[in-house]
Amino acid sequence: MGSITFNHVFKRYKGEARPAVDDFHLSIEEGEFLVLVGPSGCGKSTTLRMLAGLEEISSGELYMDGKFINYVSPKDRDIAMVFQNYALYPNLSVFENIALGLKLRKTAKHEIGLRVNRVAKILEISHLLERKPSQLSGGQKQRVALGRAIAREPQVFLMDEPLSNLDAKLRAQTRAELIKLQSDLKRTTVYVTHDQVEAMTMGTRIVVMKDGVIQQVAPPRKLYDEPANLFVAGFIGSPQMNFIPGRIQREDGTLYFANRRMKLPLPVEMERRLGGTDRSLRSVVLGVRPEHVRLSAALPEGEDSGYTAAVVQMKEETGADSYVYLLAGDMRVIARTDPESAYQPEEQAAFGFQMDKIHLFDESSGVSLRREQA
Ligand code: ADP
Repeated sequence: MGSITFNHVFKRYKGEARPAVDDFHLSIEEGEFLVLVGPSGCGKSTTLRMLAGLEEISSGELYMDGKFINYVSPKDRDIAMVFQNYALYPNLSVFENIALGLKLRKTAKHEIGLRVNRVAKILEISHLLERKPSQLSGGQKQRVALGRAIAREPQVFLMDEPLSNLDAKLRAQTRAELIKLQSDLKRTTVYVTHDQVEAMTMGTRIVVMKDGVIQQVAPPRKLYDEPANLFVAGFIGSPQMNFIPGRIQREDGTLYFANRRMKLPLPVEMERRLGGTDRSLRSVVLGVRPEHVRLSAALPEGEDSGYTAAVVQMKEETGADSYVYLLAGDMRVIARTDPESAYQPEEQAAFGFQMDKIHLFDESSGVSLRREQA
């Protein structure tokens, strides 16, 4: 129970030229924790609201457990939604707020009491049941909103940025609790956030969206290790992946990534993936994450060291790591190092890449060359 299928779903708001959601095509499995992530305005909430029945679908079909639900009203969908602003009724007590959905569905009074108390216990808000929302902290309000959704025991939970009004510490804590709750309840959950860290830590699968279009659907690790295109590569990970424009060229049977300042032989494995000579002289963008940039105090001996001379611009300490910002001509590169490292602003240094970790993207389409081959 709780499986969902979007079959080529489009949403075009009245009077808008472009669809807000453009050919959303995806199946969500029973019990899955799916996260929709992307910058503001990319169509996450619209997708969620179509699933909740709060927004009409322009074309395409939506199914829940194999049943066509495009025209099923929100109250008849076995779904509960948690909003960013909690949407609690100020005049009702916490108990009444949690009980509301059950009351509307004409659940027996005795059963309502049992369920509200059970949910309050899970969420550790039993001592707050008589209070009004105005007497609660942000985190407590969030729990009540969650409690209201859980008490209904729906097949599917929909959550639209439910943690964004909490401070950083409470957000991290509630995030962990939500993950636990979801794995205990084993209910399909579709969760919307613009925060890539939240997406990476919570989702069993993540959907990255941009301009209404799905960019990639993958588990967190795969999204990080094998981004399908430049957008995903830049969106997931902080500080973001370094991007360096250049071209692929073939010399004496070896493929190189080259630009005015560097010429790096590509690993044989990557060469195999890139295929024949048609790849030579192709314009590409090399992507490398800060943890895969190697630093050296000076340019190593030998012409083919693979290192490039640079100047340290700035050092950023996060406690566990430090990030060194380098400039080589107009090329900017961020490298992660350990906090003990001695690199200081305005000093000379050199950087190289862990070549088995680099990504290559087609310059014009942005598509990963690895992906193109697959
Ligand atoms: P997100 O949740 O990713 O921030 P939304 O789904 O809210 O994005 O919005 C997607 C696009 O649809 C945006 O360009 C937004 O301006 C537009 N949009 C959202 N709601 C409406 C509406 N009621 N009428 C017209 N355009 C809308």
